[in-house]
Amino acid sequence: FHKDKGSMHNDNTVYLSDLEATLRYSLEHEILSRSVISGESLNALNSYLELLIECFPSSIRGKKFIKLIWENTHLNKTVSGEKLGNLINNYEFLLKPYVTKHSWIGCEGSQPMYRKYPCGLWTTFHTLSVQASIKNLTTFNGRQVLQTIAGYVKYFFGCTDCSEHFMNMATTIQTNVSSLDDAVLWLWSAHNQVNQRLTGDVTEDPMHPKILFPLKVYCETCHQNGTDEWNKTEVLKYLKNMYSAISLQKTPYD
Ligand code: FAD
Repeated sequence: FHKDKGSMHNDNTVYLSDLEATLRYSLEHEILSRSVISGESLNALNSYLELLIECFPSSIRGKKFIKLIWENTHLNKTVSGEKLGNLINNYEFLLKPYVTKHSWIGCEGSQPMYRKYPCGLWTTFHTLSVQASIKNLTTFNGRQVLQTIAGYVKYFFGCTDCSEHFMNMATTIQTNVSSLDDAVLWLWSAHNQVNQRLTGDVTEDPMHPKILFPLKVYCETCHQNGTDEWNKTEVLKYLKNMYSAISLQKTPYD
């Protein structure tokens, strides 16, 4: 496992199209596939929607769309996936909340079975944590940002293996995270642990090898000279730049 492996691809541009594709899949497939949402899963959903309202880089119509969904969930004790689905379809038709055609660009794989939604979900989580920190949110502290992400992963992410692994890592949030910057770095480190575990796995797209992120070619100062240690101040700076410069580029078909 090499830090400098696979520098031929720049996987470091964040596209709104990927973020919107992820949001759409998350709302219309993952959340709706649950027949009944109540108790802890409903709290997790409400918290996720609240974080999206604050931090997802959407248009005004996009924000209104998420807010309308939240207005239908946060006062209820139980929500049915089917009913929520009808609401979401109506609001989507009326509001046209997406700016892009929500197709995969940065998260497109070299073959159809690679990347896409799981890649989009990481990208979305990093974007949310960075936006929370840049906006200096008062409604969520660093721990709450991560607990919200973990709540989504626990109750809604369809990859159950991923969810179990992530929830194991999430046990360190309580003691290791307080500020919003801590949350950005915790998520970066957790993602690197997953990358490390999956290197050489059948799910690895050969054109997008798992690496310890970011590679030296993209952030020289993130790597302490001559050691395996990271310079976390520089990593934080890099992540904040990357996940706040969101490309509006569309696919040639849009
Ligand atoms: P991804 O790992 O999805 O990364 C997407 C993009 O994020 C990269 O292109 C890069 O630009 C950026 N990036 C990469 N590393 C970092 C970092 N450390 N910090 C910030 N940005 C970074 N699959 C399994 O098989 N087993 C699991 O246990 C598992 N757990 C998962 C847990 C979660 C929460 C998620 C969202 C996914 C999980 N997956 C798991 C899927 C797996 O991590 C990848 O998403 C999938 O293999 C697709 O990989 P990818 O090449 O598109 O890059």
